[in-house]
Amino acid sequence: MTLHLYDTYSRSLRPFAPIAAGKAGLYACGPTVYDYAHIGNLRTYLFVDGLRRALEFNGLQVRHVMNITDVGHLTSDADSGDDKVEARSRRSGKSAWDIAAEFTRAFESDLHQLNILPPTVWCRATEHIAEQIAFIGDLEAKGYTYRTGDGIYFDTTRQDGYGKLARLKRDGLQAGKRVALGDKRDPCDFALWKLSGVPGQRQMEWDSPWGLGFPGWHIECSAMAEKHLGAYFDIHCGGEDHVAVHHSNEIAQTQARHGTRLANFWLHGAFLKTQEAKMSKSSGDFLRLHSLVEQGIDPLAYRYLCLGAHYRSSLNFTDEALRAAASGLARLRSTVHGLGEAEGDADTAWLARFAAQINDDLNYPRALAEAWELLKSALPDGVKKTTMLRFDAALGLRLGEWFPVVEVLPDAVLAWMAQREAARKERRWGDADTLRGLVRGAGFEIDDTAQGPRARSLD
Ligand code: AMP
Ligand code: ZN
Repeated sequence: MTLHLYDTYSRSLRPFAPIAAGKAGLYACGPTVYDYAHIGNLRTYLFVDGLRRALEFNGLQVRHVMNITDVGHLTSDADSGDDKVEARSRRSGKSAWDIAAEFTRAFESDLHQLNILPPTVWCRATEHIAEQIAFIGDLEAKGYTYRTGDGIYFDTTRQDGYGKLARLKRDGLQAGKRVALGDKRDPCDFALWKLSGVPGQRQMEWDSPWGLGFPGWHIECSAMAEKHLGAYFDIHCGGEDHVAVHHSNEIAQTQARHGTRLANFWLHGAFLKTQEAKMSKSSGDFLRLHSLVEQGIDPLAYRYLCLGAHYRSSLNFTDEALRAAASGLARLRSTVHGLGEAEGDADTAWLARFAAQINDDLNYPRALAEAWELLKSALPDGVKKTTMLRFDAALGLRLGEWFPVVEVLPDAVLAWMAQREAARKERRWGDADTLRGLVRGAGFEIDDTAQGPRARSLD
């Protein structure tokens, strides 16, 4: 079965045919680096990683581009409010540049811990100012822009089909006036370049043909995607909240400049849901990957949890579900480890079963179920292991790198266990019980197995 993906633009499951044979260009909207990523954001990057791994599983060479939004993302989608990075800088006393660098590093560390493959190209909005200015200049020359008191705006009324991605109903929007207009002519119009106002009030600002200022959030992605992948590439993805505004606006800009809808496929991941207070990045009170690690949870247990839900279904996060995922992963790891050395080629029938699931719009929950079925199958252990490691190239659970922790028993415990064995042979049951008690006191339980006594930690 060939890879089929659900394209939000056409609202349909379509077979994936790369624009250039054997290759896939993939752009994923990256984080706004004014704070740590929360586990909801990370669910979206796990979905993108699952997509990239599925493309690679199908033998495609992926060029994966991810941006870092370090300027221009305002606190309100209606182009009003503060720049998130500048606002954080003022609150913390650190420079906007330091804030962006600090949270970019933290994000990279989160990706590494979740075994998310690093993108082929990282790109920062602040390093692509010239490209953004050139893009806006082109839109201006084509008559798509107008100027207000605070910036240069994109005139969405000039474009037939604006908002098709979101199936936007313009009439309702205008009549209801649900969006703050400010100086905008239409609620859907959006900022391409915002003027600084008082020079020097902002830390991140640049000269432009329109005056000192900074780029809008949407132009960043159109300009960087075009620079690194071209004006029409294979797949653009992000979280489902981007459909209505951010991605609709990226498409509008690129369509106005080049007549393309930027990407052939538009994919969107559903949200992770948890208690309101724990998921709002702007309130500063949310669950980070680090919070889970502090509770002794392996970051890959969170990956396992996310694999268990299809990317287009929302996932309810609970501590209980996370603990179940952690024990599922532990069982999977030790079972795979118990298979011993990998031997021979991967089994083609099982590879096909697994591929059929990920090729069915990235059905990782069923792909994971196939992995469990493989372990129950009658294949020789070595072949099972080889096949499982191939599955893991898509699952990303680092199954081949896991080894059980070898418990080092304190000398005293070893000595008490030996004395207990001697006592048992001589049928001195009371002494044997006393010695078991001493071992327990040191934090270990003795299990009498067919292979002799074994100590396990009581922690
Ligand atoms: P941001 O750093 O706010 O620009 O968001 C980074 C990514 O996380 C975007 O693709 C968002 O769509 C996504 N995102 C935000 N909240 C959630 C959530 N609760 N669950 C899944 N993805 C989310
Ligand atoms: Zn974007």
